[in-house]
Amino acid sequence: MRIRVASVALVGAFSMTAIATLGWWSKEPVPQSIAEATHWAPAAVLEPRLADSVMTVPKTTQVGGARKILNVPLLQPDVTETALPAIEPPLVTWTRQIASGETLDAVLANAGVAAHARAEIALALGVEYDLRRLRPGHEITVISNADGNPKRVELAIDDGVRIETVFGEELLTRVLEPDPEVVIFASEAVVESSISAALDKAKIPARFAVDLAQMLGGTIDFRRELSGGERMRLLWREAREGNKRIGQPELAFAALDLAGSVYEIVWPDDGSGQATIYVDGEVLRVFAQPVEGARLSSVFGRRTHPVYGNVRMHTGVDFAAARGTPVKATAPGRVSFIGRRGGYGRVLEISHGSDTLTRYAHLSEVPDTLEQGQRVMAGDMIGRVGATGTATGPNLHYEVRVDGRPTDPLSDDRLVEAADRDAVGTAALERLAEARSLLAERLTSEFVQTTTERL
Ligand SMILES: [Zn+2]
Repeated sequence: MRIRVASVALVGAFSMTAIATLGWWSKEPVPQSIAEATHWAPAAVLEPRLADSVMTVPKTTQVGGARKILNVPLLQPDVTETALPAIEPPLVTWTRQIASGETLDAVLANAGVAAHARAEIALALGVEYDLRRLRPGHEITVISNADGNPKRVELAIDDGVRIETVFGEELLTRVLEPDPEVVIFASEAVVESSISAALDKAKIPARFAVDLAQMLGGTIDFRRELSGGERMRLLWREAREGNKRIGQPELAFAALDLAGSVYEIVWPDDGSGQATIYVDGEVLRVFAQPVEGARLSSVFGRRTHPVYGNVRMHTGVDFAAARGTPVKATAPGRVSFIGRRGGYGRVLEISHGSDTLTRYAHLSEVPDTLEQGQRVMAGDMIGRVGATGTATGPNLHYEVRVDGRPTDPLSDDRLVEAADRDAVGTAALERLAEARSLLAERLTSEFVQTTTERL
C-alpha cells in the first residue's frame, strides 16, 4: 500500500443547538446543556485560527452508477480517436447492484444472459468466491458483444475487490485486488453538547463517536464529565483508489482533554482491532474489539427486547455488522465451548482464567480448525457474524461473564489482566509517541499551508 498524507482543517463555529444523535453521549437534559453552551461558545467562534483555517474536507464518494472498465480499448465509444479502425464489434456494458433478496441468477437473467451461460458464470465465479456471501450492494457488470453473448462478467464485492470471469475458449476467473493509497487525515474539534455533534460540526466522520464510546465508555461517564469546551484531536486513515474511498475510514489516534487529564487512544494499523488507551501518557488498558469497525447497536443493561417486545436484561453488547464479518477473540484464553445455546444461536466461548469468560453469539460459522480446549490469542479469528438464534439481523452478541454473571463488557477490566502484559510496555509507549508526533505534524502542516494560501 502506498501512503499519502493529507490533512483536513478544522471547521470552526460550533453550533449551540447541535443535537446528539447518540443518546448516551448527550448531557441531559438537553435544554440545560444548550443554556450552558451559551456561556462559552462565542469565544470559540471568535477564535481567529478556527475561522480562517477552513481547507479541504474529505470528499464523500459516490458508489453506484455505471462502473468504468479501464484498460479495455474496445470499450471506447469514440472510434475516430484510435489510429486503427476497430476490428471487433462494439461491446455493451450492463451494470447493476444486487437488490435485497435477489440471487446472482436473477441479476444475470435481468441482464439478458442465457440460462446455460448463467450456470457457467455461477460455477466460474464460485471458484473464487463463496456465492452464499453475496449481499445487496454487491455489483454485477456484464460486458457482452452486439449479439448478446457475454464476454466478461465482473462481480464487485467489498472494499474494492472484484472477481472477474472472462469468456474465451474456456472460462477464466481471477480476483482483482484494489491497490489503494492510504490517506491520513488530522483534525480537531471542541465538544459542546455531545461528541457526535462536535465531530459532525468539524466534518469528521460521525461514526468515530461510536469508536470513542466503545473505548472510553467504561472509563469516563460522559454524561457527568463532559461539561463543554473539551478539545478533541483525531487522526484517521482512509483507503482510496483515485477519488473513491474504499471501505470505511478508520481512527488511528484520538486525544481528548477532559477534567484536567489527557485521554489518548492508539489504534494500530495491523488489522488486530486492538486499541490501547492511555491516561496522561500511561497505559490504562488494552481494548480488543471483537468486530473491527462495527457499529455498537445495543449496549448492556435493561432494554426492550427487539424480538419479544418486553423489557429484559441485555446480557452483553451487540455489534451490527454484515453477515460473514470476522469475529476476533478479545483476549487470550482457551476455547471452552463451541455449539448452540438456544436464543444465542451458534456460540463460541473462551475461558480467560478461572472466573472470566467471553461469549460470542449468533455466529454464522466457526472455523473448522477451532476446537474445544484450544488456546487462542487476542485478535485471532474465531468465527463470523451471523443471525443464528433469536436475532433481528446479522450481529455479534458479545458477552463477558465473571463467575457466571454477565457484566458490562465495556467497563470490565478483568480482560485486561488476561491480556498479554508484554504488549503493554515500551512498544505501547513508542506507539503513543509516534501517534502524537504524526498528529502534531499534520495539524501544524495544515496550519502552515493555510497561512501560505492566505499570503
Ligand atoms: Zn445481544
